[in-house]
Amino acid sequence: MILYIVVPCFNEEEGIVQSAERLNGFLAELMEKNRISSNSKIVFVNDGSRDKTKELLENICKNNISCSLISFSRNFGHQYAVLAGYHFSKDKCDACISIDADLQQDINAIYDFLDCYEKGNDIVYGVRNDRNTDGFFKKSTSQIFYRFMSKMGCEVIPNHADYRLLSKKALNELSHYPEGAVFLRGLIPTMGMKSDIVYFDVFERTAGQSKYTMKKMLKLAMDGITSFSDKPVFAILKISLISIVISIVLFIINAIITPEKITMVLFALGFLFSGLIELFIWIIGVYVVRTYLESKNRPRYIIESVIHEVNE
Ligand code: UDP
Ligand code: MG
Repeated sequence: MILYIVVPCFNEEEGIVQSAERLNGFLAELMEKNRISSNSKIVFVNDGSRDKTKELLENICKNNISCSLISFSRNFGHQYAVLAGYHFSKDKCDACISIDADLQQDINAIYDFLDCYEKGNDIVYGVRNDRNTDGFFKKSTSQIFYRFMSKMGCEVIPNHADYRLLSKKALNELSHYPEGAVFLRGLIPTMGMKSDIVYFDVFERTAGQSKYTMKKMLKLAMDGITSFSDKPVFAILKISLISIVISIVLFIINAIITPEKITMVLFALGFLFSGLIELFIWIIGVYVVRTYLESKNRPRYIIESVIHEVNE
């Protein structure tokens, strides 16, 4: 079977050379053991890095037919880098695995991914064993993230990021999804194809810093919620019904007690409800903006150059 390994890279100059060496060594090991065919390869996607990542990757790929490099014209974001790697691979391989460039995810789990694929699964999710290598902030924000996403109607597999295997069939189906806001973790489970889970260990980042800033994480969460669920809009309905009931009760109280005594309370409530109304307008605004952006139907990423597009 032909395996493609997709590696999104953004400002990874500190560690990309070691990662590429390890991945190449691992690919050779899989070939020697006859687990994959000799035309399997690694597909690096340079997501508009502003450091030396692109030059380093060009050097790695130019002399190695087992490595391809897709370079974006600018930074489009991790999800789009993974998606571009999937699109590139779909007609060329039997299965594709996406993994982070820092190799924090244990590459040995690829053996288990291949076992699951051979048992007939089209999708194999990598789920991390524990979060001990993450700091307190990252650990608690990701827990809040999973709980919040599920409450908001976007079901994701807990502790699964983007380390996954997709079969040729799954890659093909995924390529028919046209949406601009891509949240693969939410999208792929909705495809309903035969799937399994592989558990893996997570290591510390050995070089460089996390490229997922708070801003990027919040954008990912917003994309996830607004493209999968209308629950926030229904939450507005519930809260407005509760406020109507409260206001009726207050009118009745007002009629019984002398008005001066509750003027302050009414004043505070006035502020509270005007705040809530602004919040509701914002929620609806988010959906309107999402619709506006989707209606433009702009390209999700722009590829500037490709090295080893086909196996020469
Ligand atoms: N990444 C990317 N584009 C971005 C941000 C990140 O391609 O805009 C890549 C990054 O190079 C890495 C992967 O996405 O290969 C995951 O990022 P990172 O390791 O920084 O995230 P963390 O492990 O901290 O969640
Ligand atoms: Mg990482």
